[in-house]
Amino acid sequence: MSALRGVGIGLGVAQGPVARMAEPLPAPADEPSTQTVEAEKARVAEAVAAVARELEERGAHAGGAARDVLEAQAMMAEDPTLAEEVDARLAQGKTGEFAVFDAFAAFRDQLTALGGYLGERAADLDDVAQRVIARLRGVPAPGVPDPGHPFVLVAKDLAPADTALLDLDMVLALVTTEGGPTSHTAILAREKAIVAVVGTVEATGLADGETVIVDAAAGVVTTEPSPAELERARNRADARAAAASAPVTPGALADGTAVPLLANLGSPKGAAEAVELGAEGVGLFRTEFLFLSSSQAPTVEQQRASYTELLSAFPGKKVVVRVLDAGADKPLAFLNDAHEDNPALGLRGIRALRASEDILREQLTALAQADAATEADLWVMAPMVATVGETEYFTELAREYGIKTAGVMVEVPSSALLADRVLGIADFASIGTNDLTQYTMAADRLLGSVASFQDPWHPAVLHLIRSVGAAGRATGKPVGICGEAAADPLLAVVLVGLGATSLSMAPTALADVRATLLEHSLDDAARIAEAALAAPDAAAARTAAMEAASRSADSAAAASHEKASTS
Ligand code: PEP
Ligand code: MG
Repeated sequence: MSALRGVGIGLGVAQGPVARMAEPLPAPADEPSTQTVEAEKARVAEAVAAVARELEERGAHAGGAARDVLEAQAMMAEDPTLAEEVDARLAQGKTGEFAVFDAFAAFRDQLTALGGYLGERAADLDDVAQRVIARLRGVPAPGVPDPGHPFVLVAKDLAPADTALLDLDMVLALVTTEGGPTSHTAILAREKAIVAVVGTVEATGLADGETVIVDAAAGVVTTEPSPAELERARNRADARAAAASAPVTPGALADGTAVPLLANLGSPKGAAEAVELGAEGVGLFRTEFLFLSSSQAPTVEQQRASYTELLSAFPGKKVVVRVLDAGADKPLAFLNDAHEDNPALGLRGIRALRASEDILREQLTALAQADAATEADLWVMAPMVATVGETEYFTELAREYGIKTAGVMVEVPSSALLADRVLGIADFASIGTNDLTQYTMAADRLLGSVASFQDPWHPAVLHLIRSVGAAGRATGKPVGICGEAAADPLLAVVLVGLGATSLSMAPTALADVRATLLEHSLDDAARIAEAALAAPDAAAARTAAMEAASRSADSAAAASHEKASTS
């Protein structure tokens, strides 16, 4: 057996046979066909029909929104105008592969030029073309494979659309060779509770059909596992399933200190599940996820409807909505479509909104209207705030629209370092550990090759968080955590020890974090945090925290034993 190392997402473990995601096909060469025009036409007709039927079958199997998408793709494959374009190229003696490639590409360009809804279908058309060409070549179609049995999906990375459409009855686990722990593949995997190890560079060598164990807690993919290893992994998976069904209680430490556990959401549709999993409110609503595919700014009315739906699901509860965070990993065509060499350091977040203030004003209008129509306790915050001036700008503007609680995200080291001044103005801070880690470590959160730097356990990141926690205590203002770090149970304890007053995460992470918080008091959490802060690097911080946590668990056990024997 061998252990392939990557970055685990969550604490799950799964096992099964590998199915690899095929790479996109290279463009066919423009060479004359060796077959007759009629023979090429027959080949193409067969391939197109087979692809259309397969898409329809997949759609019928998937149901819901996926069925609509796949049925539309099947119709595209058999579009008569496209068929005429393909035939015209075949008549010139081109190969079926090239004729399909070229005709679909021309159609794609037309759709792109039209923009709007049709423009957004261009990528779907590419996918259909790839499937038809793959069939003509007799090779597997690119995209998520369908081996006909449950499997461990191994891919370079997944597009958010691929991840969103994964059939969770079939995909036992996900292993990517690229992508860091805060890439949106990882975020979606966490949201859907898929056992995942990302940035596993050596997984390129895994073959279809071989059995592996994917251990997200350890960040390891084990190849050629022994029967004993397989059994241990199965037992762990069973034990986690049992923990997930433990009673749902409000987040608290062992000494009763309340630590509200909130949900990160990207759509109001996730609200019901979050409530079911015990979310005590929402700590981060990513509004830009609602509009990622829009080419035009959403209207006030569209936004009001979405925000009202969200707030209605949490009467009397805190709901923290982030205004549009456009840029880098979350491009929004209507806010920042200019080319930048370094978009992560560009006109993004609050900077982009400030440059298009009308859009920000409309969003605040919609939020204020939704607030007035519902019973939730709405908090609104700005992303990527880097200066005290931006804090003043946003909070003043939000208050102008009647937003009662206006805060900022601390994701840039400059705001963490000046947290006392930032919190002198804002009503609250919410630390986005994904970007805070990216900017502290100078490591692109989307890049697999630097994924090992993208570790929020790094003591440099923890020191910045401590500075925000201290400013929160000094000013009496709440400091939440809404980056992926809050979903790591032991790190969650450290974050509370550093001064975080609430934790927000993908709802599927709530049960593990809730259970671990209950094992430690506030004093323990501070001690565990000190041990991590004193370490030289991320791995040592994690180990030091684990050792400090097991010492405090031992002394808690000894104390309860002593109490039992004296009473
Ligand atoms: C973060 O940066 O930690 C954060 C929560 O925001 P996002 O992941 O959406 O950038
Ligand atoms: Mg961020």
